[in-house]
Amino acid sequence: MSGTVYLVGAGPGDAGLITVRGQAVLRRADVVVYDRLVGDELLALCREGAEKIYVGKEAARHAMTQDEINALLVAHAQRGKTVCRLKGGDPFVFGRGGEEALHCRAHGVPFEIVPGVSSSVAAPAYAGIPITQRDVASSFAVVTGHTKDDDAPPAELPVADTLVFLMGVRALPTIVARLRARGADADTPVALVRWGTTTKQQVVTGTLETIEEEVARAKLKPPALIVVGQVVRLREQLRWFDNEQSRPLWGRTVVVTRAREQASGLVEALQNLGARVIQCPTIRVASLEDYTALESALRDLHSFDWVVFSSSNGVESCWAKMRALGLDARSFSDARLAAIGPATAEALQRRGLVADFVPESSISEDVAAGLLERGAGGQRVLVVRALEGREALEAALQAGGTQVTVAPCYRTAPDNSNADDTREMLCAGDIHWVTFTSSSTVSNFVEAIGAEAVAASRARFRVACIGPVTARTATEHGLRPDATASAASVESLAEAIRAAEEQDVTNPDTPAPDMPAREEEQKEEQNASNAGTTA
Ligand code: SAH
Repeated sequence: MSGTVYLVGAGPGDAGLITVRGQAVLRRADVVVYDRLVGDELLALCREGAEKIYVGKEAARHAMTQDEINALLVAHAQRGKTVCRLKGGDPFVFGRGGEEALHCRAHGVPFEIVPGVSSSVAAPAYAGIPITQRDVASSFAVVTGHTKDDDAPPAELPVADTLVFLMGVRALPTIVARLRARGADADTPVALVRWGTTTKQQVVTGTLETIEEEVARAKLKPPALIVVGQVVRLREQLRWFDNEQSRPLWGRTVVVTRAREQASGLVEALQNLGARVIQCPTIRVASLEDYTALESALRDLHSFDWVVFSSSNGVESCWAKMRALGLDARSFSDARLAAIGPATAEALQRRGLVADFVPESSISEDVAAGLLERGAGGQRVLVVRALEGREALEAALQAGGTQVTVAPCYRTAPDNSNADDTREMLCAGDIHWVTFTSSSTVSNFVEAIGAEAVAASRARFRVACIGPVTARTATEHGLRPDATASAASVESLAEAIRAAEEQDVTNPDTPAPDMPAREEEQKEEQNASNAGTTA
C-alpha cells in the first residue's frame, strides 16, 4: 500500500514557527525531503533512522530538478513510506507545492497539505512591519520577482497598498522602474528583509528613489523579500526583533558546548536575549552495548523499595527500554521514586509519575542522606543512571546499609559533529562568546577544536562559565572567563553574558576564583543540567 506524502510548511526560518501539526508529521516521517531554506533545528526533530534528502537549490550542494523531486516523492510513497516534503514558508506560496500535489494525484499517491507561516507575512513582521494597518494599508499582494523564463516580476504588477516581492532581489531595479512608471511616488517607503525571523536577519530600508543605492551599500544578497508601501514606516516604532534595546544579545554569536540533548535550556535563554547560537556539542547521549542490567532490573521492579533517577536522559532512555519490553508506568507501583533534580522530576511527571523525593541539593552525599532519612537504610534501591555516572551516591547509600543495584541506561560518547565549522568560525572571528557549563565541556571543547586553534583565536572571542569550578578549568586551558554566572543555572549564565555586554568590560586580569571542591563541581553540572534539560 502506498504511503502518504505530506507537503509541510516549515515556516520562514525561526524553528519555532513551524505548526504543531507540521512538527508532528516531521517527527514520524520515514523520509524527509527538504529545501535550502529549512534550518537544521527542524531537521533535528526527525526520528532516528529517518532518511533525510536535500533537494534545495544551492550551487555548492547537489540539487534536483522539480521533475526529479516529484518522482522522488512518489517513488518513496509507493514503497509504503510516510514522506514529509518540508518546504520553506508555506508550501503553496511560490513553493511549487501545487505541482508536487498534482504529481501525487496523477500517480494515485495520497497526499495532505500542512500549511506553514509564509515568509511573505512573517519576515515583515519580524522587521516590525505590519503588512496591513488601519488607515495606512487595507490590502496586500504577494508577487514573484522571478517569473518562469525571466529574472523579472510579471509585466503587470498587481495594485495593492502593500506589495511584497519574493525572489526579487535581482529584479529590484525592474520592480522600482515599473512602480515609478505607473505613477508611484519617489518617496514611497521600501524595505528589504534578508533571512527574516532568523538570527541572521538583515533589514535595509529606503524609498523607491534610494533603495537600490542602499541595497548596494549594504551588499544585501538573496534570499530576501521586498516590501513596498507606507506600512514600512512603522518599522521605526515597531522594530522589535533586530533590536539591541529589547534583545540585548542581538548580533552576538554564542557557542554552546554541552550535549545537544541537554542544551535546549541554555540555547533558549540565549536566543531569548537575541543571540545567534551555534551548537558545538562535544559529547552526546548514546545507546549502551549491554542492557542486561537495566532489563533485568526493569523486569524485577516490584522487588525494589526505591528507584532513583539521576537525570532526565536517564528517564528518557529507561522509558524507551520499558516500551521495548512491553512495560509501562504501572511497573513502578510498589516503589518509591526519587528524582535527583527538578528537570528529572519533570521528565517523570510527563510519564504520569510524581517523584516522592526530589533533593534540594544534588550532591551525592546529600541525596543519600535524604534517602536514608526516608528509610532507605536496609532497603533495596535501584539507581538508574549513565554508564559513566558518579559512584559516590552508591557508596554513600551502601555505607548507610542500603542494598544498591545500579542499572546503566545510556552512555556519553564523543561528538565532533560541528567542531570543524565552529573552528572555522572561531578563527574567522565570527564568534563572540563561548559558553562552558562544566569542566568536561572545557576539556572536550579544547580537544575537539584543537589547542592550537583555540590559542590562535583566543583574542577574538570571550568566554563565559557557569560557575567557579568550570571557570578554574577554563583558566587552566588558557580560557580565563570574561563572565561567570552568579548562580549555577543556564539563565544566570545567559544573564552574565548580557551584563558583560552591557558594560562591555573585559577584565582578563581578574584571577579566577579558587574553589576546586568536587561538590561544587557536581552542583554546577547538576543544577545546570536540571535547569537546562527538557525532552
Ligand atoms: N514558500 C515560501 C516562499 C518560497 S520562494 C514562503 O511561503 O515563504 C523563496 C523566496 O521567499 C526567497 O527568494 C525570498 O524572497 C523569500 N523568503 C523565504 N524565506 C525568507 C526569509 N526568511 N526572509 C526573507 N525572505 C524569505
